[in-house]
Amino acid sequence: MQCTKCGKMAVIVRSYEGRALCRKHFFDSVDRTVRKTIRIGKQIPRGSHVAIGMSGGVDSVLLLYQLCTLSKKRDDLKVSAIVVDEGIRGYSKEVMRFAEKAAELAGIALYQLSYKDMFGMTLDDFMRKLKGRDLDTCAVCLSLRCAAFERKADEIGADRVALPVNMDDEAQGIISGYFCGDDGAGVVVRSFVQKKADIHIIMPLSRVLGNEAVLYAKLKGFDALSLECPHACGSVRLKIRGVLDELEERHPGIKFNVVNARVKAL
Ligand SMILES: [Zn+2]
Repeated sequence: MQCTKCGKMAVIVRSYEGRALCRKHFFDSVDRTVRKTIRIGKQIPRGSHVAIGMSGGVDSVLLLYQLCTLSKKRDDLKVSAIVVDEGIRGYSKEVMRFAEKAAELAGIALYQLSYKDMFGMTLDDFMRKLKGRDLDTCAVCLSLRCAAFERKADEIGADRVALPVNMDDEAQGIISGYFCGDDGAGVVVRSFVQKKADIHIIMPLSRVLGNEAVLYAKLKGFDALSLECPHACGSVRLKIRGVLDELEERHPGIKFNVVNARVKAL
């Protein structure tokens, strides 16, 4: 297959837009999408200090790369990173080590904190405490992590937290919101967080498909953890991910439609 734009060998065929792209034009396209997402959403005004909420996946490294590239062009932008130790055995420590290495390579400061320091409990302690309530562990963890990122960002003087959320995550979040109703986990978590910091949450990768983020990272030679959180297997989101992936395969563009329908409804 040849690139629709230049005729060179294609690295990706985008069925959802009926074109193939070579390495260069694929990178250009993803970079442009991220810049446009930031610009249209006015996500990073002048003088911002953005803290990247790191996890171990490719999206974190891609976000780190995109924001560090942007900060080289913008003197007014400061970028740093935050990582949270959830206290999940066999997982959290690996993510911490990974984030340390990634931040060091990127030459930015990394700030660490743990659920234990912040809430006095690890995620496992939390789930034991909430036993008997029908709460998704991933949903509780996500809310806790956001609260932790916001708290730390406030401490280090950052005014926004960038989350490594891609379009697949965004579509999953929308559908699970429909299936699981309002944010039960969020309500529980908020009861543990006394004061909410005034921090903007931004998601510059929310228009990049998950498989394209993976391809981008692979072609650039970025390292990422292949480790999956042990709690993910029981989560509703993971089941929805499977359904959305299957639908996308048969009807390219489904994930865009889910996210666009939500944007139009707001
Ligand atoms: Zn090309």
